[in-house]
Amino acid sequence: MAHVPHMNALEQRLHYPMGETLPAPGTALEVAPGIRWVRMGLPFALNHINLWLLRDTLDGRDGWSVVDCCIDTPESRAQWEQVFESGLDGLPILRVIVTHMHPDHIGLAHWLCERWDVRMWISATDYYAARLGSHGAGFGGEGAAEFFRSHGLASPEAMEKIRTRRNYYKGLVPAVPQSFRRLMDGDTLSIGGREWRCIAGYGHAPEHIALHSAEAGVLLGGDMMLPRISTNVSVFDAEPEADALTLFLRSIDRFAQLPADTLTLPAHGKPFEGLHERIAQLHQHHRERLAELLSACTAAPRCAADVLPLLFQRTLDAHQTSFAMGEAIAHLHALWFAGQVRRERGADGIWRFRTPA
Ligand SMILES: [Zn+2]
Repeated sequence: MAHVPHMNALEQRLHYPMGETLPAPGTALEVAPGIRWVRMGLPFALNHINLWLLRDTLDGRDGWSVVDCCIDTPESRAQWEQVFESGLDGLPILRVIVTHMHPDHIGLAHWLCERWDVRMWISATDYYAARLGSHGAGFGGEGAAEFFRSHGLASPEAMEKIRTRRNYYKGLVPAVPQSFRRLMDGDTLSIGGREWRCIAGYGHAPEHIALHSAEAGVLLGGDMMLPRISTNVSVFDAEPEADALTLFLRSIDRFAQLPADTLTLPAHGKPFEGLHERIAQLHQHHRERLAELLSACTAAPRCAADVLPLLFQRTLDAHQTSFAMGEAIAHLHALWFAGQVRRERGADGIWRFRTPA
């Protein structure tokens, strides 16, 4: 989910070393020594996810570490079967690394871990969030509907969609492994003889872990560093005063310390070079959105629903509307936490943001 009004011109400033080449479904394509790219279809607007295979040795066995898993559907299981068949050089999977708890990343982790009798490695925050989403109450429901209503959402279709979304996560992530190995910011993993450092990122998922290998010159960026679309950054009902956008922007600044010629392997889109350019583009993108919202809040008090057309210059369906609301609140909160707007709750129960008089 993302907004992309003028990204294509910007995209040309990035370099795609693989050109237009994509791995065929069910195959693995080498992008760097010991690093293979698997691309699986998704039945969403965002129609694919990239998964990565890292040649590894663990506990004396040769095989592969997997980074991210795809959602749990018969189609993605079938694609994995093909990868097992032809993409692993006959070697086993040794561990399953998950960047964050979103369904396209963790959905099949339980199946991969069971099948290969291996451990899932993930941040603790995302592990427990995934357990809650899959084995617990789920996300969405009445609390989410009420939260978005308090930010001005009135469309009955969108509200109904949110109310009934309790089972959405479980549908794509029917189970989460019973145990995990914890990844934390600054941890170093040895994968295939190379050191990979964990870089935690916030604002997109509770505690997203990207991995950087200085030796390979590669960043496994997950959803925190995408070449074409801007990462979804949202505020949800469980943490209604979150400053998700500020967290996100601060997080991507940490990638600026990596070398300029780093090859970024993103979860969506193509492997790219131009990391520093991309960080600057994302800052500019959000700065422009914030400036537009600030001027809107100067003209009159605005709620999140009021500013949706400013952020998204296209018609949104009910599903997209709820994502868009989360993003709109994230932008308004960034202005609020920066002291550029104040918020007040109207007699109608709706939060509105305005510049101080
Ligand atoms: Zn994600």
